[in-house]
Amino acid sequence: MQIRREQIDPDAARVVERLRQSKHEAYLVGGCVRDLLLGRKPKDFDVATSAKPNELRRLFRNCRIIGRRFRLAHIFFGKKIIETSTFRANPRPAEDDQGENANGNGSGNNDLLIRHDNEFGNAVEDARRRDFTINGLFYDIDTEQVIDHVDGLVDLEARLVRTIGDPDIRFREDPIRILRAVKFAARCDLTIESETYRRMMEHKGEIAKCAQARVSEEFFRLLRAGAARRSFELLLGTGLLEVLAPDLARALREEPTDEAGRIRLARFWAYLAAVDRSTIKREETPSDALVLATLLLPPLRDALHPDSAAFPIPGQLILQSAQSIVEQLKASRRDSELARQILLATRYLFPSSNPQRKRPHLEDREYYQNALRLVEIVTDAESGSSELAGRPLPAPEGGAATAAEEELPDDLQVSERAGRRRGRRDRRPAQPSPPSQTGQPATTAPSREGPAPILVQDFRHPALTPIPSLVARPTSLRPTFLGTGPFGSRWGARAE
Ligand code: ATP
Ligand code: MG
Repeated sequence: MQIRREQIDPDAARVVERLRQSKHEAYLVGGCVRDLLLGRKPKDFDVATSAKPNELRRLFRNCRIIGRRFRLAHIFFGKKIIETSTFRANPRPAEDDQGENANGNGSGNNDLLIRHDNEFGNAVEDARRRDFTINGLFYDIDTEQVIDHVDGLVDLEARLVRTIGDPDIRFREDPIRILRAVKFAARCDLTIESETYRRMMEHKGEIAKCAQARVSEEFFRLLRAGAARRSFELLLGTGLLEVLAPDLARALREEPTDEAGRIRLARFWAYLAAVDRSTIKREETPSDALVLATLLLPPLRDALHPDSAAFPIPGQLILQSAQSIVEQLKASRRDSELARQILLATRYLFPSSNPQRKRPHLEDREYYQNALRLVEIVTDAESGSSELAGRPLPAPEGGAATAAEEELPDDLQVSERAGRRRGRRDRRPAQPSPPSQTGQPATTAPSREGPAPILVQDFRHPALTPIPSLVARPTSLRPTFLGTGPFGSRWGARAE
């Protein structure tokens, strides 16, 4: 296993050289060394050095010190960032930490949870404080040698994810590492070493001790890296999904009792596989909001079909259907709101068979590219199987609403000024244009019978059989928060 100097990002190499000229130790570390040795393209190149954050600031004008838990330097080269961290030792829990448990249930000496992580150390200590042996390798650009203080090379050769040191201790120190093990196993197609796996299972419940923002960040990183489907299979198989999002886990585990339930499940896995194809094809990481929208779409797919007349105010439906999962995943308020808009916008981007269908101009909206990408992902997923393709839900019995008369939801409306500004361009197709209807079954336009009233939302529409725990709850036809604007506090999502 060999890494050649030319495989190293030139800006990362420049950072290492500058540090070495200033008599500091410096190496490339972590994910980039692992990925190069596995023959994969590194996502980014990180540097570890003996220089302290203040010394880094003096040495690099294009540098910003970030992080509270973990102070490190971002060195900018245009848009590119070379993350440069000072060698650190694994912090032992300080005595004053006891009783300071994040959950307020100080568990004395049994509690190894790391809360401060800024103890400087030397290169060997820095390698040993890292999570897995495959992530503890250093690369010396002068000698072109991999430096292995943690027996990472044998594990890479055997394609094993193994903690550095005792997995019992390492997972108790930082239970987020349990999710990280899943990420590396899924993304790099590795096996989790048996004792590491046993301790993951033993400590998985402790993920709840970690800061919510770290848990949700690591969860979304799992799904953004081109192995979303495999990651989800592992999360489900290991029972980790029960810890992260119990409602979603239950919905995915339940044996479908009808055709709609079976299609919903098949769509879920097909969409995740298509997210991965999109990530790999575009070489562009999907946003958290897009990934969230994809997870939420399967039970909503048919209701959001442009020709569906069943739910003329689909914003409410999305809100209600997604609420528990969004809460459990601790998605940020911003991403939750964006995900809702992305879902809502797909109703106007999927091809409709109705020539009178309103098509709002969404091009200048923040969610537009994401919504377009979701439509692309879904079209890709459904193109191989007419069974999976979205089909419109008819209006409930006695209902007269048609999709053509539906009022555009407030938050998808384009302001008058923006509309005027675009003027005649309005008639041109959106760029890039939504995917064609290839592979989708022909749909029939709902009939139009005079001016149609906007129906009060009825979540109990018989044709919609969403994931039961997602949509079963609503009792009132017109929830109190209707009309109070986007999501509001109802999402109960994490405040940023
Ligand atoms: P990716 O390709 O997803 O960026 P990565 O291995 O580079 O993978 P990062 O989260 O960028 O992962 O972290 C960089 C390095 O920092 C890791 O390779 C690992 O050595 C170390 N590290 C990150 N998180 C932890 C943690 N929770 N505990 C110990 N070491 C960690
Ligand atoms: Mg990284």
